[in-house]
Amino acid sequence: MIKYKLYCKKCSNIFDSWFASSKEYEKIKKLKYLSCNKCNSPNVQKSLMAPNLLNAKKKQETKLENRKKYINVKKKIREYQKFIKSNFEYVGDNFAYEARTIHYENPKDKKRKGIYGNASSKEVKELNEEGITTETIPWIKEEEN
Ligand SMILES: [Zn+2]
Repeated sequence: MIKYKLYCKKCSNIFDSWFASSKEYEKIKKLKYLSCNKCNSPNVQKSLMAPNLLNAKKKQETKLENRKKYINVKKKIREYQKFIKSNFEYVGDNFAYEARTIHYENPKDKKRKGIYGNASSKEVKELNEEGITTETIPWIKEEEN
């Protein structure tokens, strides 16, 4: 036995119906023995609702899965941020300037902590061209929760 959701094109009724097999369904449909249990219209077909609903459910699950992944990544980033904040010196928008100062003026100054701050992608590119290696990390602002 196989259960199909049938859809009535006339009254939009959706109802369940049992068939011995999909072949039997095709046979009955061909003979126009299928009819709506509400309005008796023979204009009835297998509903596409069921697979759609399944897909919707799957999508929901994928969404949830992605959300979980996102939360995990966010947690990692926060840990990373915490580490950087306690081990590096924040220089804000002066990042490119400070990076150059360290690189050109006191590269031997081991006492100075590493720095972190904001730089445009253009600045990062220029720094890299000058041989100043930088690391770009995703940064979550405090207010974003
Ligand atoms: Zn109907």
